[in-house]
Amino acid sequence: MDYVRLRGVGVSPGIAVGEVQLTEKVVFTTRKETINSDQVNEELKRLKRAIKLTRAQLVEIKKDIKNKIGEEHSFIFEAHLLILEDKSLLSSLEKSIRKERTRAEWSISRVHEKYQKIFESFDDEYLMQRKYDVSDVLSRIYRNLEPADKRKKEDGKNKIIVAHELLPSEAALRLSKGNVLAVALDMGGQTSHTAILARSLNIPAVVGLRNISQRVKNGDVLVVDGTDGEVLINPPHAIKKEFASKKQKYDDYRKELRKIAKLSSKTLDRHTFSPLANIELPGEVEMAFSMGAEGIGLFRSEFIFLQSTSLPSEEDHFEIYSQIAENAYPSPVYIRTVDVGGEKNLPQFKIEKEPNPALGLRAIRFSLRDRELFKIQLRAVLRASVQKNVKVLIPMITELEEIEEVKMLFFSVKEELKEKKIPFDEDIELGVMIEVPAAAALTDILVKEVDYISIGTNDLIQYYLAVDRSNELVSYLFKPLHPSVLRVIKFIIETAQREKKEVTVCGEMAADPLSAIVLLGLGLRKFSMNPIFIPRIKNVLRSIEYKTAEDVVQEALTLKTSQQIEECIIERILFRHPKAFLMG
Ligand code: PEP
Ligand code: MG
Repeated sequence: MDYVRLRGVGVSPGIAVGEVQLTEKVVFTTRKETINSDQVNEELKRLKRAIKLTRAQLVEIKKDIKNKIGEEHSFIFEAHLLILEDKSLLSSLEKSIRKERTRAEWSISRVHEKYQKIFESFDDEYLMQRKYDVSDVLSRIYRNLEPADKRKKEDGKNKIIVAHELLPSEAALRLSKGNVLAVALDMGGQTSHTAILARSLNIPAVVGLRNISQRVKNGDVLVVDGTDGEVLINPPHAIKKEFASKKQKYDDYRKELRKIAKLSSKTLDRHTFSPLANIELPGEVEMAFSMGAEGIGLFRSEFIFLQSTSLPSEEDHFEIYSQIAENAYPSPVYIRTVDVGGEKNLPQFKIEKEPNPALGLRAIRFSLRDRELFKIQLRAVLRASVQKNVKVLIPMITELEEIEEVKMLFFSVKEELKEKKIPFDEDIELGVMIEVPAAAALTDILVKEVDYISIGTNDLIQYYLAVDRSNELVSYLFKPLHPSVLRVIKFIIETAQREKKEVTVCGEMAADPLSAIVLLGLGLRKFSMNPIFIPRIKNVLRSIEYKTAEDVVQEALTLKTSQQIEECIIERILFRHPKAFLMG
């Protein structure tokens, strides 16, 4: 195939050059191969052997994944083992061989089709998704019907994995092997399971490539640039060399950045700032601190729901929050209550399809509708706060009444715990995210009701500019340095500070060097971001004077377009503090 350059979404940084390994799906037979009645017992034995082998493989995989990347990723295989125990599934397979006198392959194929139809007919999104698990298990049995020497080994050793999409089980299985160079997928987004896993295992990944799985074949050479979100198919030698040197530079840069993690978070004129980490898994705490985080500025608790096939209990929540609080102690941990709905539609929640999900039943709106679930979460957070380093953060607040309701519920949960003599931090701080333009305009009123605020710039910019940044037709309009964005953020930060309340930014904007300079100049001290970007931002902010950032912002606020603002920052900072962008 000729040289092609594709653009996707870089979800795990780094560069890899290597050969394609397409993940091959089992194609179930469409041929009904019959057998004689005296062959039936032998065929049943063949099926049982394949099922036994499948069980042994799943037990082994589950153990392996638990050891290598943690228990939270091994639950999927527990679910698969349960499917193998399912009496009706197993008897359907046997019945088809016995009654129709067919080969096991055909019986699996039929049963597969039947189960897919059953699951697809459910209205419940969660049950519907289970069809993939059944499919996964039946594929494994199907493959195991082949004699051992014929079974193709798809180990992806030192290869680049290309697929349409990876099921959570496939992602855990493949990426945990430690020898995958990179991942390139047709589907997926920043917060997909594969993206999170690739980031925590340091494997470059680009997703959302639309049709790469159809454009490549095994053995094609790929360059995956997870930093810039690009994939090159069969690049000419000169371009491959260029990327090999970019990779070298990037790897050196990573080493350099790690050194920065240990240096103090102070600007040249000794003004302190504090880098915090946004995380999705408890296992990320250690990595976040090694990158220089001074606390967990955002724990996206909705990811707890990704790790279980059923609704997590209060104990499940409590264990995870306690683990994070303990590992981060004495640094602060901001636990955000679930932010589901919108593009984060988790199956257990049974949220009906909405015509306009971004404006629908999301985040706190959902929690205030299902109050029992919300209370379970609040109780667990409170119980995990005994060491006094936990704060609660409420997403997507739109109006004052929502805060009042949250406070009432929070109060009643606290009373309940007191009655039961269960300890918690009575001074635990409650904060809200400013992500909706209406909340931004009300900052002066809302901030009086809470202990702190956190600006969620990902959503705030999307709603403020009316731009869906994942829609490539309009994503060019998503500009953190848009003059109107700067005005609103200035208002939020200044208003919070006037009320002597803490303010944090926890959207991607905090991880962008130019924006971070602007935020510093606007008086922000707490920058929460994906931990991999902390060293870069620390380097930028350590290389400039607070005074310069203040001056630059003053000038930027007089400009009319984001381009003028960008140019102004680059010129002024480069002129005064050239080191700031040396590594950025
Ligand atoms: C945000 O909106 O900026 C934010 C941090 O929340 P999330 O990215 O989880 O929606
Ligand atoms: Mg948000």
